[in-house]
Amino acid sequence: MNIDQNLISRITAEVMARVQQQGNHGSGNSGIFNTIDEAVSAAHTAQKQLRKLTIEKREGLISAMREAAYASAAMLAEMAVQESGMGRVSDKVLKNQLAARNTPGTEDLRTEAWSGDTGLTLIEMGPFGVIGAITPTTNPSETVISNCIGMIAAGNSVVFSPHPTAKNTSLTAIRLLNEAIIKAGGPANLLTAVAEPSLAATNAMMVHPQINMLVATGGPAVVKAVMSSGKKAIGAGAGNPPVIVDESANIERAARDIMAGCSFDNNLPCIAEKEAIVVSAVADRLITFMQKYGGYLISGQDIERLERVILTEKEELAASGCTEKPKKTFGVNKNFVGKDAKYIIKQIGIDVPDDIRVIICETAADHPFVLEELMMPVLPVIRVRNVEEAIQLAVSVEHGNRHTAVMHSQSVDNLTRFAKAVETTIFVKNAPSYAGIGVGGEGFTTFTIAGPTGEGLTSARSFTRQRRCVLVDALSIV
Ligand code: NAD
Repeated sequence: MNIDQNLISRITAEVMARVQQQGNHGSGNSGIFNTIDEAVSAAHTAQKQLRKLTIEKREGLISAMREAAYASAAMLAEMAVQESGMGRVSDKVLKNQLAARNTPGTEDLRTEAWSGDTGLTLIEMGPFGVIGAITPTTNPSETVISNCIGMIAAGNSVVFSPHPTAKNTSLTAIRLLNEAIIKAGGPANLLTAVAEPSLAATNAMMVHPQINMLVATGGPAVVKAVMSSGKKAIGAGAGNPPVIVDESANIERAARDIMAGCSFDNNLPCIAEKEAIVVSAVADRLITFMQKYGGYLISGQDIERLERVILTEKEELAASGCTEKPKKTFGVNKNFVGKDAKYIIKQIGIDVPDDIRVIICETAADHPFVLEELMMPVLPVIRVRNVEEAIQLAVSVEHGNRHTAVMHSQSVDNLTRFAKAVETTIFVKNAPSYAGIGVGGEGFTTFTIAGPTGEGLTSARSFTRQRRCVLVDALSIV
């Protein structure tokens, strides 16, 4: 893919300047408002107008959104990296394009029917109304594009609550998509947000009586918040995807795929490989091949130095009182989330070539690099004696998120055993994790993967209400 970085940077700078200058404030049709009340009320009116349009017209609006999103994929990618300081532009371009092209539209909606002696009964997928969608900093435009297509295809309007640290990117995506809808003859304000997103604004949105459904894409706190809201909620939460390599795997291919998946957008995706668990008989070969495919191996004191850079540490007193020794707990230093491997390793005084994409290190199973969702291209590798041990450990470090797991193996038996044990929403076999969202794997794309509430990979139908329509003694023609 040829991307003129200079041109994109210039356009991004101009867009950012325009957004700052306008203070993000709503100009007529942008969908951006000063208050939550205004944003919800405008979206409510727009949804009523959308209901009056035919499905064909709705599909026309979706095509216009797809085109606008695809055309702006590079600009939004550049903007996201500049604003959030996270990720890789070329990977984000691909993610935006994928969201634009591969998110299902109205074809995802299905009607079920029963016909018989007493007539015809239909189950149709109707809209919820106005959806409140909360989006993460890690996919600030991808989630907006994908949510917009799916939610509008289902007949809803959307009030977005973007993450404040990537607000300009998310708000720009919302503006562009609104403009495309209006140009295609659709109503203004199908997509709205407030100019200054904040936790307070999100909380106000969640309790607003005209918000009919909540969809949260983010970490555990926001998923818990929407699930406790008393409204219909979809929660797409955190992951910590393990990848297992057993002795039957094609080891070179496994190493190549793990490096590719782990380094995609600098490990920001919730589906990206976060720890590799390897049967020791093949561990040395796997690590050697990982180095061939962009991995840089560190050991000993370098690992300790890296811990001091990318982890935060705090001491907590045990609940029973202060007589016990404080317990150390670790967190992730946000300054390194989504950064390049080269930049991260430079912090411990090591210079590597530009083609190094992942820092790899062997650790114990209970190391914080394994247990924390690092979201940076640092991959701990853990040796285990056999596949049973690998599966047990992988299930434990996935923390019950039931999000994503990957396995490299030629044994159908082992693949089946792991898939059954880990119970994740996405299980990828013999490929990079991103095959699970339609990159080099079959199937549609979404950036809202709802493990906690069970919708799985969300699409238009996830944002609908099932409605039964019964006609007695007629229209059954058999
Ligand atoms: P985050 O949880 O910090 O923020 C996500 C969104 O929730 C933001 O808009 C934020 O403002 C809001 N938020 C956070 N806490 C809240 C609270 N208590 N009440 C109301 N709103 C709140 O997450 P992030 O750093 O932006 O994104 C990374 C996290 O999201 C990772 O854990 C990653 O695994 C997860 N994620 C999951 C998916 C998925 O589809 N399952 C997709 C992308 C990211």
